[in-house]
Amino acid sequence: MKVLKFGGTSVANAENIVKVGHIIKEESIKNPVTVIVSALHGVTDQLIQAAESASRNDANYLSIVKELEEKHLKLVRELIPVLEQSSLLSFVKKQFNTIEDLCNGIYALEEFTGRIKDKITSYGEFLSSNIIAARLKSEGLDVIWMDAAGYVITNSNFTNAKVDFEATEKNLEDFFQKNQHRVVIAPGFVASDKKGNPTTLGRGGSDYTASIIAAAADAEELQIWTDVSGMMTADPRLVSAAKPIPQISYAEAMETFPFWGKSPVSAYAPAGHGKKNQPQD
Ligand code: ASP
Repeated sequence: MKVLKFGGTSVANAENIVKVGHIIKEESIKNPVTVIVSALHGVTDQLIQAAESASRNDANYLSIVKELEEKHLKLVRELIPVLEQSSLLSFVKKQFNTIEDLCNGIYALEEFTGRIKDKITSYGEFLSSNIIAARLKSEGLDVIWMDAAGYVITNSNFTNAKVDFEATEKNLEDFFQKNQHRVVIAPGFVASDKKGNPTTLGRGGSDYTASIIAAAADAEELQIWTDVSGMMTADPRLVSAAKPIPQISYAEAMETFPFWGKSPVSAYAPAGHGKKNQPQD
């Protein structure tokens, strides 16, 4: 089995999701695959922005939530054949009703805790993974959506929870032993604590989800797909002359790119610039 992870830019719009679909389809002809996805590009930040506005008693949160809802509905209309759209459209609307309810609560209480933040941000991956799974099903692939949040168990350190590897590995091993489907689609970043509260693995945490799943399932390969072709000499958004590095050892990568272990995308970050430079989805 192979594990493939696609970040927010890779699933930013219908065009990119179609490309991701082709990669998954091709791979699944050769191997069973598990695919971990991020939220659509920018969605995690916008969900936080909506909740933060609400906590400041700024009613602008309503338009942010509306805009996000429109973005996801548009994607469903672009990716799913008309006759199969209605249940997914109602599913998306239902999730946004809940997100709006949560923001209404934050607005009323003027309080935005880490626990609520995890509950709200987890909708980003929940939505993207369900939409992508539906798209692949509509294309005839043998797909199952897996709720990674129910399998990855953490402590209750909200927004940056620590994984309970024993419980998580057991859950995942059970799942993969029983699974008969060729393609598993799962949300990255999301987890839950022992009481079942939603938790998250920290910003950029979908790569981590992918490695946890790859290790537990004893996958033969983990592929992290990003929108640049490998490690670059500098952040290509800041330095136009940045070039891909054809070959690099693990040791050099770790020395040159101290954030590499956290997320390959953050390999853009010049040493010493810290997490601030990490592109977030
Ligand atoms: N969506 C989450 C974030 O933006 C996790 C991820 O994309 O890896 O941090």
